[in-house]
Amino acid sequence: MAAEVTIAPRAESHTLLAEEVRLRAHLRDDLGVRTRFAALPDVRALLVSPAARDGAKALVVASDATAAERIYLYVHVAAHIALEHHLPLVTIVEGPPGIARLETDARRHREAEDLARAMWWGRRGEGLAAPRLVRGSAVLRELVSRGITRAALRSLLLAMRAAYYDLRIERALARTRLAAWLRDALCVTAVVSAAPQLSD
Ligand SMILES: [Zn+2]
Repeated sequence: MAAEVTIAPRAESHTLLAEEVRLRAHLRDDLGVRTRFAALPDVRALLVSPAARDGAKALVVASDATAAERIYLYVHVAAHIALEHHLPLVTIVEGPPGIARLETDARRHREAEDLARAMWWGRRGEGLAAPRLVRGSAVLRELVSRGITRAALRSLLLAMRAAYYDLRIERALARTRLAAWLRDALCVTAVVSAAPQLSD
């Protein structure tokens, strides 16, 4: 549908965009985090903590972050909050991957990465976990854990999706479990491609 193309100018999948909206709503409703977007040179996100434990928190995310990266940032920031790294009155700065940090910051980010991984794969925090249909798939999890198999899987899934549309069978298959699994698998693969630290 032409209208769908205009909704996703980056050609990001609807599943990814829907997941991004769902996780952002979870942050707002369950964790009291208001998210906004701004041009942030050299930084991917800032979590500004409140003066009191239950006060509203503000998350500013780089406006050029993709939906997949935003999903990762939400889970990672939620892990920082669960670990209470944002208290008292600490602004957590998420820099680009691979940028060296002060050792105390690096330790906290590593702790958040470990918890975020557990949340994403559904061991902790249902509301922040990967899409349900693929979350428990050991095979998918293994394939996305290494760069080479992750790239191959992504190519394969994209080819399957393209074939699915080319064959014009999407209406017949749209409500099937196969189509839902394919959408969720692509979503997980895209997120782990943007943030390999979410894989084991
Ligand atoms: Zn962090």
